[in-house]
Amino acid sequence: MEKIRTLRGFRDIFGEELGKFKRIEQAFRKYSARFGFREIELPILEKTELFVRSIGDTTDIVEKEMFTFMDAGGDSLSMRPEATAGMVRSYLQEGLYATERMTKVCTIGPMFRHERPQKGRYRQFHQIDVEVFGVKEPLVDAELILLVRMLLDELEIRRYRIEVNSVGCKMCRESFRRILIDFFETRKDELCGDCLRRLEKNPLRIFDCKNQQCIGVTADSPLLFDSLCEECKDHFDLFRQYVAGFGVDIEVNKRLVRGLDYYTKTVFEITSDDLGAQKAFIAGGRYDNLVEEMGGPATAGIGFAVGVERLAMLLPPGEAEPGTECFFAGIGDRARDYLTTLLKRCLTEGIPLRYAYEAKSLKAQMRYADNLKCGFVLILGDDEIDRGTITLRDMTGKSQDELPLDADTIVNTLKKRLSGQAPALSTRDG
Ligand code: ATP
Ligand code: MG
Repeated sequence: MEKIRTLRGFRDIFGEELGKFKRIEQAFRKYSARFGFREIELPILEKTELFVRSIGDTTDIVEKEMFTFMDAGGDSLSMRPEATAGMVRSYLQEGLYATERMTKVCTIGPMFRHERPQKGRYRQFHQIDVEVFGVKEPLVDAELILLVRMLLDELEIRRYRIEVNSVGCKMCRESFRRILIDFFETRKDELCGDCLRRLEKNPLRIFDCKNQQCIGVTADSPLLFDSLCEECKDHFDLFRQYVAGFGVDIEVNKRLVRGLDYYTKTVFEITSDDLGAQKAFIAGGRYDNLVEEMGGPATAGIGFAVGVERLAMLLPPGEAEPGTECFFAGIGDRARDYLTTLLKRCLTEGIPLRYAYEAKSLKAQMRYADNLKCGFVLILGDDEIDRGTITLRDMTGKSQDELPLDADTIVNTLKKRLSGQAPALSTRDG
């Protein structure tokens, strides 16, 4: 029969990669707590309208990347393509704007986008997401950059760039729109089909196009950054000043726009040349109108998302720790009986004890212990039981000791030996 495989762009995550995911989560939780973020779990499935209204209906995500379907009741539902929309919905639904001066929340989980799968681009991928609601001051923009920096330091990632820009507020964008349309009209024949559509609906989107020819056109374009209003300019200057105060290096990229419509003022992307074509592994920015547009009171917001798969690609391989487990090799029924006593003691006391479920020869069990890379093997046969002893073999030093057949002694000896405190007492060739 044909084997069933995962859907295209969906993957099993295990082994070394899963280990990296865990290291990333651990580092993130350490710093997110320190910065005052509390974690929250959000639904994966939401009403389609939530994403259409927040992300924007002329964005790639909403136009072509969402997993959307009708449920039995005739409602249009979508698998979340990102976390901010759900965070805003939750902030409003739980009424946090009324009870908290400002809110710092974070979440970790899978996101879904129907994109063409390639290296660093999947249909189910994972994000760490942080959001701050209710702070309009640029100090918080800088604080998020500091959080990113500390997270990457903790993970010992050094080769990256922090690119920042300001996409202004509604007012600067509105007055710049005409200038931009006029410019792109003169270069219409060089733009791709997608950008021709963007030209009328949302000309700033053209800066996000990955098409080489469109990128060439934007190189000559007037820049929103150069037409920011006083308030947006001041905000950006202060942001840069605070970031400098934190001692973090950033680069201004005046062509940086984000793939979602809700951003205002500060936007940023952390990129690494070690990633190939999909360079950005963290992205975020401010969204001062979104909460109001989603039906809430006027509330400033800012956040970022870490692409966990891409960040994991930057991590060095984890150090495997062979020799931290112990194996029980028992020969005969009496040894099997003793295993149940010892096994429960060991597992309770934190000693990872392995063994073969089936009765096997000593040679076969030793081979198994070797395969599992166990550091120590306990050997128990009828001879040992008659003598009231058990043999402890050190698999790295190939030395062995005879211990009294007493659970307390065995457990205490294993604890010391596994933590590398006590050297072998008597040594003989194994
Ligand atoms: P890209 O330009 O790579 O498509 P994006 O602008 O669509 O990214 P965001 O919506 O800002 O990405 O998401 C934040 C981060 O999530 C990205 O920087 C990236 O690391 C990660 N990400 C986005 N889409 C995918 C995907 N399909 N597979 C894996 N990671 C992704
Ligand atoms: Mg994308």
